[in-house]
Amino acid sequence: DRPGRGYRRVLLKLGGEMFGGGSVGVDPDVVHSVAVQIAEVVRDGAQIAVVIGGGNFFRGAELSTRGLDRDRADYMAMLGTVMNSVALQDFLEKEGVPTRVQTAITMGQVAEPYVPRRAERHLEKGRVVIFGAGTGMPYFSTDTAAAQRALEIGCDAVLMAKAVDGVFTADPRVDASAELYDTVTHREVLERGLKVADTTAFSLCMDNNMPIIVFNLLTEGNIARAVSGERIGTLVST
Ligand code: UDP
Repeated sequence: DRPGRGYRRVLLKLGGEMFGGGSVGVDPDVVHSVAVQIAEVVRDGAQIAVVIGGGNFFRGAELSTRGLDRDRADYMAMLGTVMNSVALQDFLEKEGVPTRVQTAITMGQVAEPYVPRRAERHLEKGRVVIFGAGTGMPYFSTDTAAAQRALEIGCDAVLMAKAVDGVFTADPRVDASAELYDTVTHREVLERGLKVADTTAFSLCMDNNMPIIVFNLLTEGNIARAVSGERIGTLVST
């Protein structure tokens, strides 16, 4: 955590819903604009690893309410995150950024397997590493994959890209008096029941002092701002 001076290595978590631009599948325009933002940061020398959700394809829990077996539904959803990962890879490479996709479920023709040491080497060489297929395990989330990967490959922070400005005292869509937190501790998030990530992901970060920055991806240039240590959104730290 080096606010003001920027982060050396970060894990950027992107929600799948954003990638779909509001419908099922991948919206190339959205992926392109995200790739442009990431490329800018990589050119400035920061090391970026990315985890993308799969909500634009499937969510296992939702499918299981419609009759699918939960484990299988979760695997289907994990495969969706791989499509998002490959789409982002494509647009990043078109921006001239070298990338590698590493998946938690082995699929050699599409991506490398997840090998943490190798991922670190890629990052050191200026490649963006995109982690697909979540943790590879049903009942987990891509938020949890983001927290776990960030810890294992030594990231300085998890950047949670959202469609809102950060963490609020209440839901700003419901409560007009809701205020944005500038900074908040992990413990306060728990005590006040604030929503930052799912509980498994959040407790991993809390137990291991991993800072989380929740920020609005829809504001152009925000990834660069967050990486440079500029105080945007909400910083969750101990
Ligand atoms: N998923 C899973 N294990 C993981 C990561 C994801 O089973 O380690 C499945 C789960 O069904 C989840 C879906 O993939 O609902 C999509 O991931 P997530 O909901 O985290 O995506 P997001 O909400 O960020 O788009």
